[in-house]
Amino acid sequence: MAITLQAQEIETRVTAILQAAGSSPQEAAQVAANLVLANLSGHDSHGVGMVPRYVDAVLEGGLKPNTSVGTTLDGGALLTLDGGHGYGQIVGVQAMELAMDRAREHGTCVMALAHAHHLGRIGHFAEMAVARGLVSLHFVNVLSRPIVAPWGGGDGRFGTNPCCIGIPLAGAEPFVLDFATSRVAQGKMRVAHNERKRAPEGLLIDETGHPTTDPGVVVVQQPKGGFGALMPFGEHKGYGLALACELLGGALTGGGTWHRPPDSARAVYNSMLTVLVDPAKLGTAAAFEQEATAFLAWLRQSPAAPGAEGVLIAGEPERAAREARRREGITIDGATWGEILAAGEKLGLKTA
Ligand code: NAD
Repeated sequence: MAITLQAQEIETRVTAILQAAGSSPQEAAQVAANLVLANLSGHDSHGVGMVPRYVDAVLEGGLKPNTSVGTTLDGGALLTLDGGHGYGQIVGVQAMELAMDRAREHGTCVMALAHAHHLGRIGHFAEMAVARGLVSLHFVNVLSRPIVAPWGGGDGRFGTNPCCIGIPLAGAEPFVLDFATSRVAQGKMRVAHNERKRAPEGLLIDETGHPTTDPGVVVVQQPKGGFGALMPFGEHKGYGLALACELLGGALTGGGTWHRPPDSARAVYNSMLTVLVDPAKLGTAAAFEQEATAFLAWLRQSPAAPGAEGVLIAGEPERAAREARRREGITIDGATWGEILAAGEKLGLKTA
């Protein structure tokens, strides 16, 4: 049965589990806060439901608690960093702090972060940058299981490779576009499979490469021993962006790309190429402020399409979800909550 709890209560329980898995109290609290913020933002697929997988990854040795980001190359406005398979919620934040200082100093920073464990919601890093007045672009690859099919291809070859763009807006809340390049999150297919629902047309192919609406093809092993795959979003264009994330996030950072058959390891590794720009140093700050404000005012005058609620900009749905869920609590489905409690029990915690 689904359970609804206040964010603080979930955060406290998750902190205890992560601490039992070997994290310092401070690390456990920071990772837990990041995951709960993903739930508050409406992205349950990247929230506390990840905890059982993180615990398994620690127990397998693929995720290393209490790891700090390391510097591979310091080139001033160019920074190459290594996450050492530490929590992405820790090494990712440390990497952004270093890169934001450089962007303030030089006007820009290109930061390559390799070998982080799961970075969670990439928008978190864009939100850090826009809060300091910086524009931020993020290209990320995922080493976990090749779950997304190339456009025109018949099986999964890469991950859900997220892309994110943060833009600070003068006198207004920022634009934060943050999305997976697959048509749908794999987590959503697991939920649909568990609820015995069909997926909409056009999202999935089966293990023989044929279109299907059965979400189980990416959840459970198929009769021929393989899996189906998710389609990339935006047809050939979204596919192109997914590849750019693999080439920039995986290859250019040195973090590695996917080119081997799937395995059953529980660790999820992300590498991320980040580009930061300080508008104040680009010489266009006044025009940027004026033009962005004028454009958004114009955009918002668009009448709501029939049956639609009107125009939003990226970042607004997450902010609205936070307001609602801080007030009403976070609902977690029974299966996910059971798995979280079981992860704690595995580490010797009492769940009563
Ligand atoms: P999604 O499909 O919900 O899209 C989210 C984006 O679209 C947000 O920027 C949101 O503000 C914007 N948006 C939503 N509705 C809108 C509307 N009506 N008008 C204007 N903008 C709107 O997101 P997703 O693809 O399911 O991704 C969810 C999360 O998963 C992201 O935070 C992403 O970073 C994360 N992710 C992480 C990994 C990883 O390996 N770390 C992999 C994939 C995805």
